[in-house]
Amino acid sequence: MSYPIELIRHSLAHVMAAAVQKLHPDVKFAGGPAIENGFYYDFDTDYRFSEEDFEKIEKEMRELIKSNGRFEQKIVDLDEAKKIFADQPYKMEWLNEYDAAGEKLSIYTFRDFTDLCRGPHVESSKDLPRDGFKIRSVAGAYWKGDSKNKMLQRIYVDAFESKDALDAFLKMQEEAAKRDHRKIGPALGLFFFDERSPGVPYYMPAGWTVYRELYNFWSEYHEKHGYLEFRSPLMNKKELYETSGHWDHYKDSMFVFKEDDNNVFALAPMSCPNSIVAYQHEPRSYHDLPWRMADADMLYRYENSGALNGLFRTYEFNQDDAHIFISEDMIEDEYNRIIDIIQYYYKLFDMKYFIKLSTRPDDFMGDIETWNKAETILKKILVNRFGNNGFGIKEKDGAFYGPKLDIQMVDSLGREWQTGTIQLDFQLPRNFNCVYIDKDGNKKTPILIHRTVYGSLGRFMGLMLEHLAGKLPVWLSPVHAVIIPISDRCKVYADSIAEKLQNVEIKTATAGLRIKKDYSSESMQKKIRNAQLKQIPYMIIVGDKELESQTISVRRRDGKQEFNVQLDDFIESLKSKIKNRDLDI
Ligand SMILES: [Zn+2]
Ligand SMILES: [Zn+2]
Repeated sequence: MSYPIELIRHSLAHVMAAAVQKLHPDVKFAGGPAIENGFYYDFDTDYRFSEEDFEKIEKEMRELIKSNGRFEQKIVDLDEAKKIFADQPYKMEWLNEYDAAGEKLSIYTFRDFTDLCRGPHVESSKDLPRDGFKIRSVAGAYWKGDSKNKMLQRIYVDAFESKDALDAFLKMQEEAAKRDHRKIGPALGLFFFDERSPGVPYYMPAGWTVYRELYNFWSEYHEKHGYLEFRSPLMNKKELYETSGHWDHYKDSMFVFKEDDNNVFALAPMSCPNSIVAYQHEPRSYHDLPWRMADADMLYRYENSGALNGLFRTYEFNQDDAHIFISEDMIEDEYNRIIDIIQYYYKLFDMKYFIKLSTRPDDFMGDIETWNKAETILKKILVNRFGNNGFGIKEKDGAFYGPKLDIQMVDSLGREWQTGTIQLDFQLPRNFNCVYIDKDGNKKTPILIHRTVYGSLGRFMGLMLEHLAGKLPVWLSPVHAVIIPISDRCKVYADSIAEKLQNVEIKTATAGLRIKKDYSSESMQKKIRNAQLKQIPYMIIVGDKELESQTISVRRRDGKQEFNVQLDDFIESLKSKIKNRDLDI
């Protein structure tokens, strides 16, 4: 019988606990859920687990699996449970809590190990893979995740249905570590972090060039598609966020400071409230709709310092945001337009993606009827576009003001990332009393769509670095080409080539083509290696032969080289790759 992978992972967690119990009989057990790519179990013992224990534990687990032990469930009453777990303080705490909540007390026994657990599990350990798991690490973890509680030892295990699946995962992990943007970014001179500004990156000139290219492209593309870009305050008085509801729902994630008790300010954590203020600045009629306001303003969100993660999670970031005010009959058309834009972007970067609908969360604002209506409309759009099974659902993961479509990007390593989002909002326009005058001269409340394509510019840049392993397309490259003369005799010729390239008429986020000269005294091989390490797409190599024939040699960063190239032909090809934003060099 085949079981869902989560069930296999969780059953393996029991097997690991049983193995640890055999090796360290005094250990106290906390809990062991399945997680993405595996499972963990939390233990409390004076013994310090280290990498040297991993093999021993794995070996013991294999022995246990081989024994074809069954997972036997029993429902017990509180007295019996208390006897069974008399020397297990963490289980005692759970079972008292479960009992108080009126839950049945379910225990599972696998070999000599009995755990308090609702299940389900596999029937017998013969259903578990003997070599589909590998202990990854051991780390401290507080009991119930609360730093006031005791620190336990959490053993993380990667676990899959077979050895092949595990090996594929481990190989992917290895590749992912090589592509880690936190390593690649500083190595390419794009950005760095300093401990005096945690969560806020320094973008160096090369990185700021990439950033500006991403931004300019976004800005122009949206202008062409009917969006109006604007700029609003980065800090507001708290009253604005009280009206929007963020003060109640989001305050813990905001940077708040005050001038005095009557003047409390917050750095903008999102640009919706400011977009609404701009909407209300002038009277609006149905002629103005859809009113598409785009901004990539700086936003500030507080995170636990442990959640900060390179460019993926920062305190400060530019969200490529837009707020679209529409009437109800425009929802479907506007959503289709937005999905078109998203498809265009993701194709450009050769990213696969799929869409998930996030539904009403527990702390929702507004009435259930409106929510149901909104969710129904979004489902219909998704079914029309992607078919009944062409999208996912994330229950209760909507924003507090409305349901949303989240774009899940799948990168070249098969990893999933949430990037863009399209949120439908019936609430905020009501909170702010937004109106427009309809065809019949009546006041109506508009509906608001919040949407991003990149998500955040910095995060997207980090994702691209990992997705493309640092090999950015030409249009995003901080240097388009480096000129390398073979000898001093060719420098004058090299200068003339550089001048011609620098004077090419082309629109980029910087002043035309980005050309470098490498006249250093390094060896030819070293210069080529340096350019490759910086992922510069083209090396223009000129020696006596090129000087004589007035041509150039073009070496690409992937090692391919072309001789006798006319400079004009190279310029034309470079221009076209930049203009079309080709992914290949
Ligand atoms: Zn269990
Ligand atoms: Zn918004």
